[in-house]
Amino acid sequence: MKKQEIGTVCVQGGYTPGNGEPRQVPIIQSTTFKYNTSEDMGKLFDLEASGYFYSRLQNPTCDTVAAKICALEGGTAAMLTSSGQAANFFAIFNIASAGDHVVASAAIYGGTFNLFNVTMRRMGIDFTFIAPDATEEEIEAAFKPNTKALFGETIANPALRVLDVERFAKVAHKNGVPLIIDNTFPTPVLCRPFEWGADIVTHSTTKYLDGHGSAVGGCIVDSGKFDWTKYPEKFPGLCTPDESYHGVTYTERFGLAGAFITKATAQLMRDFGCTQSPQSAFILNLGIESVHLRMRAHSDNAMAVAQFLKNHDKIAWVKYAGLEDDEDYALAQKYLPNGCCGVVSFGVKGGRSAAESVMKQLKLIAIETHVADARSCCLHPANATHRQMSEEELIAAGVPSDLIRLSCGIEDAKDLIADLAQALETL
Ligand SMILES: *Cc1c(COP(=O)(O)O)cnc(C)c1O
Repeated sequence: MKKQEIGTVCVQGGYTPGNGEPRQVPIIQSTTFKYNTSEDMGKLFDLEASGYFYSRLQNPTCDTVAAKICALEGGTAAMLTSSGQAANFFAIFNIASAGDHVVASAAIYGGTFNLFNVTMRRMGIDFTFIAPDATEEEIEAAFKPNTKALFGETIANPALRVLDVERFAKVAHKNGVPLIIDNTFPTPVLCRPFEWGADIVTHSTTKYLDGHGSAVGGCIVDSGKFDWTKYPEKFPGLCTPDESYHGVTYTERFGLAGAFITKATAQLMRDFGCTQSPQSAFILNLGIESVHLRMRAHSDNAMAVAQFLKNHDKIAWVKYAGLEDDEDYALAQKYLPNGCCGVVSFGVKGGRSAAESVMKQLKLIAIETHVADARSCCLHPANATHRQMSEEELIAAGVPSDLIRLSCGIEDAKDLIADLAQALETL
């Protein structure tokens, strides 16, 4: 069959019921699976046969939904995780361990920054953070002989910088490492980083993919394009025998298409257990069925709100890559031609304290840590998600202390603008 359009994959991808089977993805709410003989089960444990045995490692409902996201991104293999944090941790830890180094854009989600800069450093993995708009030379200069990956976000949360994915991919490949892209904000509806050279994509499915603020989750997708076997000394975990699996070599047994995800499932999921529940995967799938419609509505609303704020005399600045005079407009035209998602950030004249008082006056737009769902919400990152950062780190991450992150939902834009107008009036 001809390759399907993205909207069709959102609705029907990953699951094709047989004759008389349920039309909706079944929730296989079972931790365990029955076998007739111990030999049958032994083959599964040795990765010699594929099948389910324990839902910490794999579950049919989760696999079905992972297959849909895999198809949307154009990858070869994918897995769900318990959260976006787990997805980014696994994506890096699958190929980097103590003594290794990773280069990452400084404009990333606060939770990811903390994971890298504090927790993973404690595990012995070193990170160098670079500007999201670093030149090829600047990216290159951050590399070391022990660098194992380059990491960035397509649209940074909450800095909203758009990453030049092609440029990052070029430098990563020149240095023999994969480019890992967190594609949470655009979703594969607005951007598919594999088309621009990225090798691994991660998601916090908690955001637009679920889209209703109902289920925390994550996903990792492999493009199958990065050739680990060209650098066996650099990626021994993928290219040499795994003693915890009777000496299986992932690249040999599962090929480039399956090695990365199989290793992350067989080792990391086995040992850390960051699984998504089948119930959550079911809810996530319901969300994905409409994400192609919602991303357009979110982007249209954000554009209307950004233009309103831009022209308001109490607003100091607005950041939305869809605005023609935005520093990332050209990148957005290239990577995000169908919309820049629903998140707009802005600063109110009067700084930090003015930001606080405006937010208090909002009626429809709620103050939430959350972002990227059907209901509009806002957050003051310097006081919440990014409060562990110093002033200098906030500036480097593109999150000045007066920044308000506004996540435009799919309500009517007129009502969002009216709510902002009345709140600004009180200043
Ligand atoms: C929210 C978010 C994460 C973390 O995801 P959780 O599902 O909250 O663990 C990672 N990356 C980005 C870009 C995010 O917005």
